[in-house]
Amino acid sequence: YVSIRSLTKVYAGPPALDAVDLDIAKGECVTLLGPSGSGKSTLLKLLAGFEPTTSGSVVFDGEDITTLSPAERECGMVFQNYALFPHLTVAANIEYGLKIRRWSREARRERVAEMLELVGLAGFGERRPAQLSGGQQQRVAIARALAYRPPLLLMDEPLGALDRSLRLELVEQIRRIHRETGTTLVYVTHDQQEALALSDRIAIMRNARIVECDTPERLYRRPQSDFVATFFGDAN
Ligand code: ATP
Ligand code: MG
Repeated sequence: YVSIRSLTKVYAGPPALDAVDLDIAKGECVTLLGPSGSGKSTLLKLLAGFEPTTSGSVVFDGEDITTLSPAERECGMVFQNYALFPHLTVAANIEYGLKIRRWSREARRERVAEMLELVGLAGFGERRPAQLSGGQQQRVAIARALAYRPPLLLMDEPLGALDRSLRLELVEQIRRIHRETGTTLVYVTHDQQEALALSDRIAIMRNARIVECDTPERLYRRPQSDFVATFFGDAN
């Protein structure tokens, strides 16, 4: 469904992403896990079309999308520092992608209410982003990305700024939405527990490469390398 071949990104010096291959099935959740600087965000940016690819290709649903702009890709995105539109209300932020897709006013209103409820912000629809805490803003960004139920959802540490209990709660909600909607999800995190809770498979990244990609159970029980064993070991 998503087919990543020899995907490479070089900014300057050593590659940020070095000939990565990855196949993702429709409806699957693959988590990218790995140390800071290992290339997780770079891979997501290339999937979203935010950065030009140096070499290699991405095929999505049978179409080569390697050179398409972000707007030409059917991706919902939540990024590390993904900014909301400051001049729009929370509701208008969530509604944005639905308007572009010409949803009716009634359908938009319903979906916005549903999304606000989902992220625990019912009643916050008329506020501006500046009137929310950082964690609340992040939840609005999640609601916005999920609102139109994109076939491919890319999330880069979407829960990073939240406290632990809220994080675990939202992970559960993301998991439920992922299951209910059949969205294909690529999720980046530093948090092994989040990865274990969400993923069908975990891709372990190190030095611009995927060093292992397998189900959480198999990675956890039988890591194929000392690096992976240590990485999981550190979590406990
Ligand atoms: P983190 O967990 O800290 O978010 P990451 O795995 O997401 O790390 P990337 O952001 O993908 O790491 O970065 C991979 C490498 O590419 C790093 O060495 C980084 O310095 C480099 N890099 C990323 N973006 C740029 C850029 N715009 N210009 C130059 N180098 C970059
Ligand atoms: Mg990153």
